[in-house]
Amino acid sequence: MASTPHIVVLGGGSTGAGVTRDLAMRGFDVTLVEQGNLTHGTTGRMHGLLHSGGRYAVSDQSSARECIEENRVLRDIASHCVEETGGLFVKRPEDDEAYFQEKLEGCEACGIPAEVLSGAEARAMEPHLAEDIDKAIWVPDGAVDPFRLVVANAASAVEHGARVETHSEVTDLLVEDGDVVGVEVEHASGPGLRVHGTEGGREEIRADHVVNATGAWAGQIGDMAGVDIEVRPSKGVMTIMNVRQVDTVINRCRPKGDADIVVPHETTAILGTTDEEVDDPEDYPEERWEVDMMIDTLSELIPALEGARTIRSFWGVRPLYEPPDVGSTDPTDITRDFFLLDHDDRDDLSGMTSIVGGKFTTYRMMAEGISDHVCDRFGVDAACRTADVPLPGSEDFSVLRDYMDEFGLQSPIGRRSVERLGSRADEVLDTDGPNPVVCNCEAVTHAEVQDAIEGSGSDLNAVRIRTRATMGNCQGGFCAHRLAGELQDSYDEPTVREAWDELLQERWKGQRHALWGQQLSQAMLNYALHATTQNRDRDPADAPGSVDFAAFDAGPADAVDHGDTDRAGDTGVATDGGRDGD
Ligand SMILES: Cc1cc2nc3c(=O)[nH]c(=O)nc-3n(C[C@H](O)[C@H](O)[C@H](O)COP(=O)(O)OP(=O)(O)OC[C@H]3O[C@@H](n4cnc5c(N)ncnc54)[C@H](O)[C@@H]3O)c2cc1C
Repeated sequence: MASTPHIVVLGGGSTGAGVTRDLAMRGFDVTLVEQGNLTHGTTGRMHGLLHSGGRYAVSDQSSARECIEENRVLRDIASHCVEETGGLFVKRPEDDEAYFQEKLEGCEACGIPAEVLSGAEARAMEPHLAEDIDKAIWVPDGAVDPFRLVVANAASAVEHGARVETHSEVTDLLVEDGDVVGVEVEHASGPGLRVHGTEGGREEIRADHVVNATGAWAGQIGDMAGVDIEVRPSKGVMTIMNVRQVDTVINRCRPKGDADIVVPHETTAILGTTDEEVDDPEDYPEERWEVDMMIDTLSELIPALEGARTIRSFWGVRPLYEPPDVGSTDPTDITRDFFLLDHDDRDDLSGMTSIVGGKFTTYRMMAEGISDHVCDRFGVDAACRTADVPLPGSEDFSVLRDYMDEFGLQSPIGRRSVERLGSRADEVLDTDGPNPVVCNCEAVTHAEVQDAIEGSGSDLNAVRIRTRATMGNCQGGFCAHRLAGELQDSYDEPTVREAWDELLQERWKGQRHALWGQQLSQAMLNYALHATTQNRDRDPADAPGSVDFAAFDAGPADAVDHGDTDRAGDTGVATDGGRDGD
């Protein structure tokens, strides 16, 4: 072992990024490996609720206490990732009065500030609440941006010397004499910044200790070393509405059930969710009825949702864990607490520890727990500082300034940018030359996009999670190509095309479950725009062989084969050449 122990952390979700930051700050040499982008797993597919603990104040008080503690910490250290919306637990006439009282007492018992409001008071706060809401309990829930927070953790870890490898899948654990001594990874090819790995190459990364923070995938990592990690993946759907119908988190005050929460998030509101155990964290059905249920049931709390437009839906898989002797049959009964599995004690396999369960809200506490454990294991005497040291961007979150004069940005655009960038706003926005808006829905400017490209290379999905570009109302319809254009100075054409395709695919996959009414019209509009102005349906440049540019000059009538020719490259023209235009 080198004098500074080398720890390999598996999984670039909130837990893995948090562990990497904590260990790096305590002086360890740390490598993080993630098979996709940062937040590729559950962390990129959650509700965005910074729990006050109110949700668990009756059913799971230990998790509720952890949530309120971490809720306070994250408001402090990650202020540019948190919106302090507050939350309401609202009671409809048919909801149980006794449960309302239990919720109130539970909050009190767990130290969660709670205040009872009448129906009228709640409606004064949130005018779209249903007329027949009886009353509500106010709690300090919030909204949190998981992408920004994980990127900030990874950036801080790198500042403290960590190596962060995305698009690097762990394909095997290296086990020698009952001791995990490292991992084998495969570095994917494709767009993005590849600082350390060789594209398409395999690498053995040897380590003094491995931390398995792969969430719902933790069992698969366990299998590689022959140990059982009984994660119980449970899926949930979330549907994003095109406007923010509420400014406060709205929870339904009833014991448990599907579709009982609305989280305001940036310009949108996110409806959720369900809780259904699945076998495989990557392969489970995503169905339209689940989306319908979100809208139908939550309209009982907010009738305006009924006529509103959705912009996309997505599913996530909770990495739930319960000790083997508990055996809950209903996933909603499984604790949201987290567990540290010391495989040395538990399975006689040294060199690896797994961290499973928990919540996004408690990621930092989980990271502290496992980092303490690693410190004990190596006799390192270094205190945890992650509850006190702000994340990059939150160091100086002073009053928002008017960026109109300073950087030539209209103030709403400046305000959105500075909310995202926090204390990095000056550094990023103070650019030479013009700074036009690239993504109108989310008010993301050229400077922010270029900053993200510097951080994540040509991977436009990574640029998206850093900036929110393409995540607004048009879902990339009017800006995906502009984003691709932002790459052109630094990358060659095939790389730009591949990144653009990946981005469009990623945007499309969340929209296809709700293709009716206005949603369908928008999808068709986007399709027509992309096909007719950008050749995205049958791009001659994608066809094998060279493009017959002469066919364009020959004019539509002569050039187009009206027979059964599939590829635009065969005819030289597609939508812009007039196949359907004559
Ligand atoms: C529907 C839903 C809603 C939720 N809402 C909330 C909420 O509002 N608030 C809240 O606090 N919590 C919420 N949660 C819980 C929260 O999202 C999770 O607890 C948390 O995100 C888990 O983070 P993680 O880092 O442990 O796992 P993940 O984010 O899944 O990270 C694990 C990572 O490991 C990677 N990985 C897996 N296998 C490999 C491999 N072989 N090689 C390399 N990398 C690998 C994966 O790609 C993944 O990125 C919600 C969960 C769900 C499902």
